[in-house]
Amino acid sequence: MPDCIFCRIIRGEAPAKKVYEDERAFVFEDINPQAPTHVLIIPRKHIVGMKEAQPEDAEIIGYLHLVAAQIARERGIEDGYRTVFNVGPRAGQSVFHLHLHLLGGRSLRWPPG
Ligand code: AMP
Repeated sequence: MPDCIFCRIIRGEAPAKKVYEDERAFVFEDINPQAPTHVLIIPRKHIVGMKEAQPEDAEIIGYLHLVAAQIARERGIEDGYRTVFNVGPRAGQSVFHLHLHLLGGRSLRWPPG
């Protein structure tokens, strides 16, 4: 998607603090962190969001969670972290390229609000 900000980050056309990348996923620091660790784990494939995902996207959606677990291990936050998909504007989705938030490094309240 030419104008998608996250596609532009993947292509290196927009700046980001890259954390990890492989052939399927790309990870970078959130520009407005809500916790000591707040990274975004995204598929290289442009998927608009969870409700637009198709059956063939099931594997990559699961894989994003495994990448999150690996980063949580590396950062020593396995005692409590949260992975979040905000789905739709009323849940706060503001970028329409699927992204899994990984938050940790502080106590996380429930319900999240
Ligand atoms: P959401 O509100 O769930 O759609 O999450 C979008 C997230 O992307 C927010 O936490 C933003 O702070 C973050 N974000 C938006 N633009 C950028 C960017 N250029 N680089 C890094 N993070 C971004």
